[in-house]
Amino acid sequence: MPKPLDWIETELQALRDTGLYNKIRTLESPQGAWLVVDGEKVLNFCANNYLGLANHPRLVKAAKEAADKYGIGPGAVRTIAGTMDLHLELEKRLAAFKKVEKAITFQSGFSANLATIPALVGKEDVIFSDRLNHASIIDGCRLARSKIIPYDHCSPASLKRTLDEYRRDYRRALVVTDGVFSMDGDVAPLDEIYEVTRVYDVILMVDDAHGEGVLGEGGRGIVDHFNLHGKVDVEVGTLSKAFGVVGGIVAGHPLVVEWLYQRGRPFLFSSAMTIPDVAACIEAVDILESSTELVDRLWENAAYFKEEMRTLGFDTGKSTTPITPVMLGEAPLAQKFSQKLFEEGVFAMSIGFPTVARGEARIRVMISAAHSKEDLDQGLAAFETVGRELEVIT
Ligand SMILES: *Cc1c(COP(=O)(O)O)cnc(C)c1O
Repeated sequence: MPKPLDWIETELQALRDTGLYNKIRTLESPQGAWLVVDGEKVLNFCANNYLGLANHPRLVKAAKEAADKYGIGPGAVRTIAGTMDLHLELEKRLAAFKKVEKAITFQSGFSANLATIPALVGKEDVIFSDRLNHASIIDGCRLARSKIIPYDHCSPASLKRTLDEYRRDYRRALVVTDGVFSMDGDVAPLDEIYEVTRVYDVILMVDDAHGEGVLGEGGRGIVDHFNLHGKVDVEVGTLSKAFGVVGGIVAGHPLVVEWLYQRGRPFLFSSAMTIPDVAACIEAVDILESSTELVDRLWENAAYFKEEMRTLGFDTGKSTTPITPVMLGEAPLAQKFSQKLFEEGVFAMSIGFPTVARGEARIRVMISAAHSKEDLDQGLAAFETVGRELEVIT
């Protein structure tokens, strides 16, 4: 008789056989430009630590001091006994930073999406969603049980066609898009999307996880980048990427925030952000508000790295952000490239199907303000060596 869990072993074996099994590497050092990974010191081209805040001394100090004063755990969900003055301070500071009236925090960007989408739309409603939206948006849409209409990636024209065809058949409508798409590094044309949506009765939502702390003046995000203040109803963000900590945020119309305090299920049924995390995030806002230095360095580093990669002959895709895909084509080549880079002391992940389309496998390089010019040059030299060896460049 087969046992009830035998199928898992079969499925795992299928993943191993097709090269899709996730081998998880272990870091033995703080997050930064250089890491110790599985015992090797390697240059870090993998992390979302855009500004180098994950191990910033000021964030570490703030977290320690808050732990001394308040301890670690919130002890409850926000709506029962888990809201501390620090949580409210963070929400106030984030709202001011992002130039909105109100903001609400969650345990992660993922849970911010799971909270927000089902709170805004339900069974009688319709969601228009970019085809390449992030998994947490997709799951949020499924939880809402609304009709989901995908529109073509970053295409306001396709969005308009679908709105014309479907909007009238439903009660409420939500248009939702990633701000920065994490695999290609392209930016949603939010200005054009706003222009399309404004004449329909729809709620406009953007998930700016990779734009928070990256796009806009001093990292204020995609709404600031396009100067759409007051025009986007819901801006989801994360405190886990450029902010260097862990947490999620929803900023935007005060009614949306008020409603999420009452009806955002991960807010009501999952414990609050931990205290050291909250204190570290407040410090991150402080750093971002006091100077654009880190954000400027991030963009300078990205521009330099991309330019040099193109000069070497690599195809860096259509990114307009610090996310730098190095297009390689087939998944086995990308895997091999990543492996050889690791041997050269560079940690950069290969990404293949189903995360990206077949034939579009790549190495995704994540540039950070934490990288020095010497770091970038060392990375470029490794790419050149491996690129020639595998005949990707000549
Ligand atoms: C990373 C990411 C998230 C998840 O954020 P976490 O804070 O890590 O949970 C959500 N949406 C998008 C678009 C992301 O890239």
